[in-house]
Amino acid sequence: MPTLTSVSGFPRIGEHRELKRAIEGYWKGSLGLDEMRSTARSLRERHWRLQADAGIDLIPSNDFSLYDQVLDTAMLLGAVPRRFDRLAFDHGEDLAFAMGRGYQGPRGDVEALPMKKWFTTNYHYLVPEIGEDTQIALSGTKPFDEYREAEAIGVHTKPVLVGPYTFLKLARDPQVRELELDRGIINAIATAYAEIVRTFADLGASWLQFDEPALVFDKTLEDTSLFKSLYAKILFARTNGVRIELNTYFGHIADIYDTVRLMGFDGIGLDLCEGRDANLAALRRHGVPQDTTIFAGVVSGRNIWRNDYADTLALLDDLASISDRVVVSSACSFLHVPYSTAGERELPAKVLDHFAFAVEKLGELTQLASLAGLPVSERDGDDRYQGNRALFDGTRVTADRGVSRRIDALTDDDFVRTPRRDERRIRQHAALGLPVLPTTTIGSFPQTKAVRAERADLRAGRITREAYDASIRRRIDEVVAHQERIGLDVLVHGEFERNDMVEYFGQHLNGFLFTSQAWVQSYGTRCVKPPIIWGDVSRREPITVRWSTYAQSRTTRPVKGMLTGPVTILNWSWPREDVPRSRQATQLALAIRDEVLDLERAGIRIIQIDEAALREKLPLRRSDWHTGYLDWAIPAFRLVHSGVGPTTQIHTHMCYSEFNDIIADIDAMDADVISFEASRGDLVVLDALRESRFRTEVGPGVYDIHSPRIPTEREIEDRLDRIVATLDPDRVWVNPDCGLKTRAEAETWPSLEHMVEAAAAVRTRL
Ligand code: GLN
Ligand code: ZN
Repeated sequence: MPTLTSVSGFPRIGEHRELKRAIEGYWKGSLGLDEMRSTARSLRERHWRLQADAGIDLIPSNDFSLYDQVLDTAMLLGAVPRRFDRLAFDHGEDLAFAMGRGYQGPRGDVEALPMKKWFTTNYHYLVPEIGEDTQIALSGTKPFDEYREAEAIGVHTKPVLVGPYTFLKLARDPQVRELELDRGIINAIATAYAEIVRTFADLGASWLQFDEPALVFDKTLEDTSLFKSLYAKILFARTNGVRIELNTYFGHIADIYDTVRLMGFDGIGLDLCEGRDANLAALRRHGVPQDTTIFAGVVSGRNIWRNDYADTLALLDDLASISDRVVVSSACSFLHVPYSTAGERELPAKVLDHFAFAVEKLGELTQLASLAGLPVSERDGDDRYQGNRALFDGTRVTADRGVSRRIDALTDDDFVRTPRRDERRIRQHAALGLPVLPTTTIGSFPQTKAVRAERADLRAGRITREAYDASIRRRIDEVVAHQERIGLDVLVHGEFERNDMVEYFGQHLNGFLFTSQAWVQSYGTRCVKPPIIWGDVSRREPITVRWSTYAQSRTTRPVKGMLTGPVTILNWSWPREDVPRSRQATQLALAIRDEVLDLERAGIRIIQIDEAALREKLPLRRSDWHTGYLDWAIPAFRLVHSGVGPTTQIHTHMCYSEFNDIIADIDAMDADVISFEASRGDLVVLDALRESRFRTEVGPGVYDIHSPRIPTEREIEDRLDRIVATLDPDRVWVNPDCGLKTRAEAETWPSLEHMVEAAAAVRTRL
């Protein structure tokens, strides 16, 4: 019997980001609803056909979304908060967009649902709200419509849904934050999913895929019983031979596998990339029931490198000895990888051979399934197998001896900055002479159309490098003067020279490659294009020194140097798979360290090293936090700045405030100052900082830069009052939430003026 193949989800934004264009066109009013719908439909069709033509057996449907699949699930289940319902839109799409982006217009003024990172990815989902007045019930037809749509073009699909357990784990009660799960909600959710199962059974679906990535978190006994009570009802609803795959990914489910095994799922999807060892051990230990199919997630949806066939085939052989029902599957949705390497015209074929984006991964699935069916002795002679071997047997890149020598020479002292922070603090305060509650910004100033157009002109050769540089200098002149004028204490140069905080640094480092079309959805219509770490990393040349020193030459106030930290560069790039991440982080740390020391030598007295993505890749299981991540990530940061003198002040910045659980690790980064997001919602983080005796000085963001609103002076003052009531005012900085690059000039300056006035007012009361 041939081995079947399955895909758990496909990128929906389109080969040329057609979906982004269509939706944004609709928002702007340049495209009608019908046109947007028809682009969406043709993308779905194209992606189904593509997978069918590639020979995929189990092709997903309902993996498509105009904005976000969790938002779609909330709408499907009727979890639409009143404030959105009241807007009374005629079309579901408008309601979805209002929930995703907020709405300000003739129908009212409503804030969006909060957004959060989807597990350890850089994809953001919308957090469903389940409040007192939420009536959970099946309230939509999207999954059924899309299933029928595929049937109509002759593609028999496997509908995909965010499962009820994950949905409840991600939802929150807007009033009390933690969702209290009473029997009523659990019943209502289970009933709705049971109805979904019955409807699909009637429509003739063969397989349904319920995505339950939340099963890879640590679980309490209540979690396990919640899971069991939800699915007891849902599994019972199966009729007409419809089968249910419980799909898990981003880690292992070893702690609940035995329970899952006994519940009678027709299929169990396991991530054998990220959760490989623990999942395999669980399979071996408990076995697989006769009628259960294992969906073996062997083709990664988290990275862009070619699958290593020898390794995967050995794994599949191993699985075959445990179960004779195995489907070769993607490890998670391909949503998190770009569309196809065919879009990359600038990279040589020899390089592209090493990459597999979503389209190429389809080929890997079918090749692996077919090779797995061959006797081992015949695989060696197979061209597909040979071709793949060649990629892994040869030397892809030559190691940089200079880099390894430097790493080998590191000693414990290189990770420790001296003198201790309290002593540095006294000397820095004396050297910098800043007022109490110093005001500053996070780095970037508005990246206006004009700034971006100039960069495009430079790339296209329409303007010279000299002209471009002169124009950046002019912008620095203006932004420095303006910051001085409104009375900010610590200035920045504005980051006008950067397209992106990671790509910009990558472009000045050895070891990086860049793509031109390899976009990945980040949230809504927003996409990112991570660079690729191809070889050993080192700094080729000074990166920011001339811009920072130029800005410093224009003012007597301190100008902050502005760098991206090693962990963030690593997390927002495609990392290598032939070298551990810890080593890549160390290489990056040494490269950025060179820049830090050059900035210091050039007279820059304050240097900010952004670690916006540090939290993102914190392992999902607590037991892995340190050994799997923090034990090398935090030292990498320390290595970057340990070489500076005592009076050089090191800042870091994080775009979130959810670090209560790793507060000691953040403090152990040993920065002198940290700024972070704290303007939205409550300021619970402040209590945690106080209680943990956090030693780093803090700049909790005093207003939200993600919104075009201009905060009033009063509002900021109130917030600051609360901050200084909780924390020692001598350790508090005043700054916005994050960089200002996405804001318009007209919002930025009044907001900052209000911030400076608020700081002045609070200072007089201390
Ligand atoms: N310094 C960066 C900026 O201001 C920080 C961006 C970020 O935290 N994402 O844009
Ligand atoms: Zn930020």
